[in-house]
Amino acid sequence: MAAELAATLERERCEGRTVGLVPTMGALHDGHASLVERAAEDTDVVAVSIYVNPLQFGPDEDLDAYPRPLETDLAVAEKVGATLAFVPPAEEMDGGVTRVNVGGPGEVLEALTRPGHLEGVATVVARLFALAGRCRAYFGEKDYQQLVVVRRLAADLGFPVEVIGCPTVREPDGLAVSSRNVYLSPQERSAAPVLLRALRAGAASLLAGERDPATVAALVADIVAAEPLASLVTADVVNAETLEPPSAPLSGDVRLLVAARLGRARLIDNVGLRVPAP
Ligand code: AMP
Repeated sequence: MAAELAATLERERCEGRTVGLVPTMGALHDGHASLVERAAEDTDVVAVSIYVNPLQFGPDEDLDAYPRPLETDLAVAEKVGATLAFVPPAEEMDGGVTRVNVGGPGEVLEALTRPGHLEGVATVVARLFALAGRCRAYFGEKDYQQLVVVRRLAADLGFPVEVIGCPTVREPDGLAVSSRNVYLSPQERSAAPVLLRALRAGAASLLAGERDPATVAALVADIVAAEPLASLVTADVVNAETLEPPSAPLSGDVRLLVAARLGRARLIDNVGLRVPAP
Protein backbone atom coordinates (compact mmCIF):
# COMPACT_ATOMS: atom_id res chain seq x y z
CA MET A 1 0.00 0.00 0.00
CA ALA A 2 2.72 2.48 1.02
CA ALA A 3 5.06 1.41 -1.78
CA GLU A 4 2.13 1.62 -4.19
CA LEU A 5 1.39 5.22 -3.13
CA ALA A 6 5.04 6.23 -3.59
CA ALA A 7 5.20 4.57 -7.02
CA THR A 8 1.89 6.08 -8.19
CA LEU A 9 2.89 9.60 -7.22
CA GLU A 10 6.34 9.20 -8.75
CA ARG A 11 4.72 8.07 -12.01
CA GLU A 12 2.36 11.08 -11.96
CA ARG A 13 5.30 13.42 -11.51
CA CYS A 14 7.21 11.74 -14.34
CA GLU A 15 4.21 12.42 -16.57
CA GLY A 16 4.44 16.09 -15.66
CA ARG A 17 1.72 16.36 -13.04
CA THR A 18 2.09 18.13 -9.69
CA VAL A 19 1.12 16.41 -6.44
CA GLY A 20 -0.88 17.71 -3.48
CA LEU A 21 -0.95 15.84 -0.16
CA VAL A 22 -3.61 16.26 2.53
CA PRO A 23 -2.84 14.23 5.68
CA THR A 24 -5.90 13.53 7.88
CA MET A 25 -7.19 11.19 10.54
CA GLY A 26 -10.49 10.82 8.68
CA ALA A 27 -13.96 11.72 9.99
CA LEU A 28 -13.77 14.28 7.23
CA HIS A 29 -15.58 17.59 7.73
CA ASP A 30 -15.64 21.03 6.14
CA GLY A 31 -12.18 21.85 7.54
CA HIS A 32 -10.63 18.87 5.77
CA ALA A 33 -12.70 19.62 2.66
CA SER A 34 -11.21 23.12 2.52
CA LEU A 35 -7.70 21.64 2.43
CA VAL A 36 -8.60 19.19 -0.33
CA GLU A 37 -10.30 21.92 -2.35
CA ARG A 38 -7.27 24.16 -2.02
CA ALA A 39 -4.97 21.30 -3.03
CA ALA A 40 -7.18 20.56 -6.05
CA GLU A 41 -6.95 24.22 -7.12
CA ASP A 42 -3.16 24.22 -6.83
CA THR A 43 -2.09 20.75 -7.96
CA ASP A 44 -3.01 18.05 -10.51
CA VAL A 45 -3.11 14.96 -8.32
CA VAL A 46 -4.49 15.19 -4.78
CA ALA A 47 -3.71 12.40 -2.34
CA VAL A 48 -5.69 12.35 0.91
CA SER A 49 -4.33 10.13 3.63
CA ILE A 50 -6.71 8.77 6.23
CA TYR A 51 -4.91 7.32 9.21
CA VAL A 52 -5.85 7.49 12.88
CA ASN A 53 -2.31 7.70 14.16
CA PRO A 54 -1.92 5.86 17.49
CA LEU A 55 1.44 7.56 18.14
CA GLN A 56 -0.21 10.93 18.61
CA PHE A 57 -2.70 9.78 21.27
CA GLY A 58 -1.78 9.67 24.96
CA PRO A 59 -2.73 6.62 27.07
CA ASP A 60 -5.81 8.39 28.50
CA GLU A 61 -6.94 9.90 25.20
CA ASP A 62 -9.68 8.97 22.75
CA LEU A 63 -7.88 6.62 20.32
CA ASP A 64 -10.54 3.89 20.59
CA ALA A 65 -13.48 6.31 20.53
CA TYR A 66 -12.14 8.39 17.62
CA PRO A 67 -14.74 8.30 14.79
CA ARG A 68 -13.80 6.17 11.75
CA PRO A 69 -16.55 6.50 9.11
CA LEU A 70 -14.34 5.21 6.29
CA GLU A 71 -16.97 4.70 3.56
CA THR A 72 -18.37 8.21 4.03
CA ASP A 73 -14.85 9.64 4.15
CA LEU A 74 -13.92 8.10 0.83
CA ALA A 75 -17.06 9.52 -0.79
CA VAL A 76 -16.47 12.99 0.73
CA ALA A 77 -12.80 13.04 -0.30
CA GLU A 78 -13.67 12.21 -3.88
CA LYS A 79 -16.52 14.71 -3.99
CA VAL A 80 -14.33 17.62 -2.90
CA GLY A 81 -11.51 16.85 -5.34
CA ALA A 82 -9.26 14.07 -4.07
CA THR A 83 -7.78 11.93 -6.82
CA LEU A 84 -6.61 9.17 -4.55
CA ALA A 85 -7.10 8.06 -0.97
CA PHE A 86 -4.32 6.45 1.04
CA VAL A 87 -5.64 4.40 3.97
CA PRO A 88 -2.60 2.53 5.28
CA PRO A 89 -2.56 -0.20 7.91
CA ALA A 90 -0.69 0.78 11.10
CA GLU A 91 2.28 -1.49 10.40
CA GLU A 92 3.09 0.54 7.30
CA MET A 93 3.09 3.84 9.17
CA ASP A 94 4.46 3.57 12.69
CA GLY A 95 8.07 4.18 11.75
CA GLY A 96 9.39 1.10 13.58
CA VAL A 97 11.48 2.39 16.45
CA THR A 98 12.32 5.71 14.78
CA ARG A 99 10.74 8.78 16.32
CA VAL A 100 10.94 12.28 14.91
CA ASN A 101 11.25 14.95 17.55
CA VAL A 102 11.25 18.55 16.43
CA GLY A 103 12.95 20.61 19.12
CA GLY A 104 12.05 24.25 19.72
CA PRO A 105 8.43 24.66 18.58
CA GLY A 106 7.79 20.96 19.27
CA GLU A 107 8.67 21.28 22.94
CA VAL A 108 6.36 24.08 24.08
CA LEU A 109 2.58 24.66 24.41
CA GLU A 110 0.76 21.37 23.67
CA ALA A 111 3.94 19.40 24.40
CA LEU A 112 3.52 20.37 28.06
CA THR A 113 -0.03 19.00 28.42
CA ARG A 114 0.05 16.24 25.74
CA PRO A 115 3.48 14.62 26.08
CA GLY A 116 4.39 12.60 22.99
CA HIS A 117 1.60 14.06 20.85
CA LEU A 118 3.71 16.24 18.56
CA GLU A 119 6.42 13.60 18.30
CA GLY A 120 3.72 11.17 17.14
CA VAL A 121 2.48 13.69 14.58
CA ALA A 122 6.00 14.48 13.34
CA THR A 123 6.94 10.80 13.02
CA VAL A 124 3.94 9.96 10.86
CA VAL A 125 4.12 13.15 8.82
CA ALA A 126 7.80 12.45 8.09
CA ARG A 127 6.82 8.96 6.97
CA LEU A 128 4.11 10.43 4.71
CA PHE A 129 6.49 13.03 3.27
CA ALA A 130 9.05 10.32 2.52
CA LEU A 131 6.40 8.29 0.66
CA ALA A 132 4.83 11.23 -1.16
CA GLY A 133 8.04 12.74 -2.53
CA ARG A 134 8.02 16.16 -4.13
CA CYS A 135 4.66 17.76 -3.42
CA ARG A 136 2.71 20.49 -1.73
CA ALA A 137 1.24 19.44 1.61
CA TYR A 138 -1.79 21.18 3.09
CA PHE A 139 -2.33 21.64 6.83
CA GLY A 140 -4.91 23.63 8.78
CA GLU A 141 -4.11 26.62 10.98
CA LYS A 142 -6.66 25.10 13.35
CA ASP A 143 -3.79 22.96 14.67
CA TYR A 144 -1.40 25.86 14.65
CA GLN A 145 1.47 24.31 16.59
CA GLN A 146 1.27 21.21 14.40
CA LEU A 147 1.57 23.44 11.33
CA VAL A 148 4.67 25.16 12.72
CA VAL A 149 6.23 21.82 13.70
CA VAL A 150 5.55 20.32 10.26
CA ARG A 151 7.07 23.36 8.55
CA ARG A 152 10.21 22.98 10.64
CA LEU A 153 10.37 19.27 10.04
CA ALA A 154 10.15 19.72 6.25
CA ALA A 155 12.78 22.48 6.26
CA ASP A 156 15.21 20.88 8.74
CA LEU A 157 15.15 17.39 7.21
CA GLY A 158 15.13 18.72 3.64
CA PHE A 159 11.95 17.08 2.41
CA PRO A 160 11.02 18.36 -1.08
CA VAL A 161 7.67 19.39 0.32
CA GLU A 162 6.14 22.85 0.35
CA VAL A 163 3.97 23.12 3.45
CA ILE A 164 0.88 25.27 2.94
CA GLY A 165 -1.11 26.56 5.92
CA CYS A 166 -4.86 27.04 5.36
CA PRO A 167 -7.30 29.12 7.41
CA THR A 168 -9.50 27.58 10.11
CA VAL A 169 -13.01 26.69 8.97
CA ARG A 170 -15.64 27.58 11.57
CA GLU A 171 -19.29 26.90 12.33
CA PRO A 172 -21.52 29.98 11.97
CA ASP A 173 -21.24 30.68 15.73
CA GLY A 174 -17.42 30.65 15.58
CA LEU A 175 -16.64 27.16 16.88
CA ALA A 176 -13.75 25.68 14.88
CA VAL A 177 -14.97 22.63 12.97
CA SER A 178 -13.40 19.51 14.50
CA SER A 179 -13.88 15.76 14.42
CA ARG A 180 -14.05 15.94 18.22
CA ASN A 181 -17.09 18.25 18.24
CA VAL A 182 -19.27 15.10 18.07
CA TYR A 183 -18.31 14.43 21.71
CA LEU A 184 -20.10 17.62 22.85
CA SER A 185 -23.54 17.42 24.52
CA PRO A 186 -26.05 20.02 23.23
CA GLN A 187 -25.27 22.23 26.26
CA GLU A 188 -21.52 21.91 25.77
CA ARG A 189 -21.94 22.62 22.07
CA SER A 190 -23.75 25.87 22.93
CA ALA A 191 -20.95 26.84 25.32
CA ALA A 192 -18.06 25.91 22.98
CA PRO A 193 -17.83 29.23 21.04
CA VAL A 194 -16.36 30.65 24.28
CA LEU A 195 -12.93 29.65 22.94
CA LEU A 196 -13.09 31.98 19.96
CA ARG A 197 -14.80 34.68 22.02
CA ALA A 198 -11.93 34.59 24.51
CA LEU A 199 -9.28 34.65 21.78
CA ARG A 200 -10.97 37.59 20.09
CA ALA A 201 -11.10 39.50 23.36
CA GLY A 202 -7.37 38.87 23.79
CA ALA A 203 -6.65 40.04 20.24
CA ALA A 204 -8.80 43.14 20.79
CA SER A 205 -6.84 44.03 23.93
CA LEU A 206 -3.58 43.83 21.96
CA LEU A 207 -5.02 46.03 19.25
CA ALA A 208 -6.17 48.45 21.94
CA GLY A 209 -2.59 48.82 23.18
CA GLU A 210 -2.04 46.10 25.79
CA ARG A 211 1.54 44.86 25.38
CA ASP A 212 2.03 42.40 28.23
CA PRO A 213 1.57 38.84 26.87
CA ALA A 214 0.84 37.47 30.35
CA THR A 215 -1.98 39.98 30.83
CA VAL A 216 -3.49 39.06 27.47
CA ALA A 217 -3.19 35.32 28.19
CA ALA A 218 -4.85 35.86 31.59
CA LEU A 219 -7.72 37.71 29.92
CA VAL A 220 -8.28 34.78 27.53
CA ALA A 221 -8.02 32.30 30.42
CA ASP A 222 -10.50 34.24 32.57
CA ILE A 223 -13.13 34.34 29.83
CA VAL A 224 -12.90 30.58 29.28
CA ALA A 225 -12.84 29.90 33.03
CA ALA A 226 -16.03 31.96 33.46
CA GLU A 227 -17.92 29.42 31.32
CA PRO A 228 -19.19 26.79 33.79
CA LEU A 229 -19.11 23.93 31.24
CA ALA A 230 -15.55 24.67 30.13
CA SER A 231 -12.39 23.75 31.97
CA LEU A 232 -9.34 25.68 30.85
CA VAL A 233 -6.20 23.71 29.96
CA THR A 234 -3.92 26.50 28.71
CA ALA A 235 -3.99 29.99 27.22
CA ASP A 236 -0.86 31.38 25.60
CA VAL A 237 0.37 34.36 23.61
CA VAL A 238 3.45 33.55 21.54
CA ASN A 239 5.63 34.63 18.65
CA ALA A 240 3.80 33.19 15.61
CA GLU A 241 6.94 31.75 14.05
CA THR A 242 8.96 30.38 16.98
CA LEU A 243 6.09 29.76 19.43
CA GLU A 244 8.35 31.29 22.09
CA PRO A 245 7.03 34.04 24.37
CA PRO A 246 7.13 37.28 22.35
CA SER A 247 10.11 39.43 23.15
CA ALA A 248 9.49 42.84 24.71
CA PRO A 249 8.34 45.26 23.48
CA LEU A 250 5.72 43.03 21.96
CA SER A 251 5.22 43.58 18.22
CA GLY A 252 4.99 41.70 14.94
CA ASP A 253 3.13 38.45 14.25
CA VAL A 254 1.74 36.89 17.39
CA ARG A 255 -0.54 33.93 17.93
CA LEU A 256 -3.05 33.51 20.72
CA LEU A 257 -3.81 29.88 21.51
CA VAL A 258 -6.24 28.22 23.88
CA ALA A 259 -7.06 24.66 24.93
CA ALA A 260 -10.05 23.68 27.07
CA ARG A 261 -12.08 20.65 28.02
CA LEU A 262 -15.82 20.61 27.58
CA GLY A 263 -17.10 17.29 28.90
CA ARG A 264 -15.35 14.52 26.96
CA ALA A 265 -13.97 16.86 24.33
CA ARG A 266 -10.59 18.56 24.50
CA LEU A 267 -10.88 21.52 22.13
CA ILE A 268 -8.18 23.84 20.81
CA ASP A 269 -8.35 27.08 18.88
CA ASN A 270 -6.11 30.02 17.98
CA VAL A 271 -6.05 33.36 16.22
CA GLY A 272 -3.20 35.39 14.79
CA LEU A 273 -2.61 39.08 14.50
CA ARG A 274 0.10 41.55 13.67
CA VAL A 275 0.87 43.93 16.50
CA PRO A 276 2.16 47.25 15.20
CA ALA A 277 5.66 48.29 16.29
CA PRO A 278 5.64 50.96 19.02
P1 AMP B 1 -7.02 15.81 11.65
O1 AMP B 1 -7.87 14.85 10.87
O2 AMP B 1 -7.69 16.36 12.86
O3 AMP B 1 -5.66 15.26 11.93
O4 AMP B 1 -6.79 17.05 10.71
C1 AMP B 1 -6.23 16.90 9.43
C2 AMP B 1 -5.92 18.26 8.88
O5 AMP B 1 -7.11 19.03 8.82
C3 AMP B 1 -4.93 19.04 9.76
O6 AMP B 1 -4.04 19.75 8.92
C4 AMP B 1 -5.84 19.98 10.50
O7 AMP B 1 -5.20 21.16 10.92
C5 AMP B 1 -6.88 20.28 9.44
N1 AMP B 1 -8.11 20.79 10.05
C6 AMP B 1 -8.82 20.23 11.07
N2 AMP B 1 -9.86 21.02 11.40
C7 AMP B 1 -9.79 22.10 10.59
C8 AMP B 1 -10.57 23.30 10.45
N3 AMP B 1 -11.63 23.53 11.22
N4 AMP B 1 -10.20 24.19 9.51
C9 AMP B 1 -9.12 23.97 8.72
N5 AMP B 1 -8.35 22.88 8.81
C10 AMP B 1 -8.68 21.95 9.72
